[in-house]
Amino acid sequence: MTYRNEARAAQRRARAELASGDESRIKYAALELREAMEALTYDRAAAYKNELPPIAYETWQPRKVMELLLEIDPNADKDSSLALGIEETPGVPASVMHSIGSEKVLNLKQLKKHYDALGNFLHVPTLKQSTAGPIDHAKRRERCEQISKFIDDVLKSPVWNSTLGIFAETECEICGETIRKRIPHGAEKLSAKCFGCKATYTVTDAGAGRTHWQLDMVDVSCANPNCHNVTHILHHELKEGSTWTCRDCGGRNRISLGVAFTPVAESEPSP
Ligand SMILES: [Zn+2]
Ligand SMILES: [Zn+2]
Repeated sequence: MTYRNEARAAQRRARAELASGDESRIKYAALELREAMEALTYDRAAAYKNELPPIAYETWQPRKVMELLLEIDPNADKDSSLALGIEETPGVPASVMHSIGSEKVLNLKQLKKHYDALGNFLHVPTLKQSTAGPIDHAKRRERCEQISKFIDDVLKSPVWNSTLGIFAETECEICGETIRKRIPHGAEKLSAKCFGCKATYTVTDAGAGRTHWQLDMVDVSCANPNCHNVTHILHHELKEGSTWTCRDCGGRNRISLGVAFTPVAESEPSP
């Protein structure tokens, strides 16, 4: 089964439902359009099969799958165009490029905008919704038409799922999970996240096709006024409720919400 074919079939069925003109069948069009959106997102994910973390295989909501893809490649949901040229000097981009075509991608914005909205069409109006008046079938139809048009454009792209690029990878220092990140051309500094333990890294270009991965840490002082120990905690753990035991005084520190006060005399600029 190819997801792209699934998307095509669902799109065809949605079109037929809309063409019937029967307002009670709009919900079936909505259902098919949701399927098409799911299939297109999984199709996109399949293009990253070597980079996908195992968690992506357990995720089904298209929006979440797309968010995972964007974590690996910030361009995963961006339209692109592909062009080829022959380099006259090795390493120097060719002066003449021939366009192969452009790709339109079902992006996160469209998914967020439409996927859940279509879900509403599948249910009986809630008590609150029913007080707002009868279902506006014309509006629902228009929305389905709009989404169908967008899906059509995606399916008509002459090139698709081109994920050309350089992917850097490392083993997480904390949990050992492999972390992959696409390095866009010319990027010097990027942020990457481990799907295993949520630790974040700053990835920098180290030249000659190599990358340097630095775990994001923060220095925090022990809150015991008689202790001067400074500990390093993971950046993503710098949040309310995180605790650690001080290595020097043995006391426990906990990050909690607080109010810092500065008396008026101290905050005034000195004459
Ligand atoms: Zn990790
Ligand atoms: Zn201490």
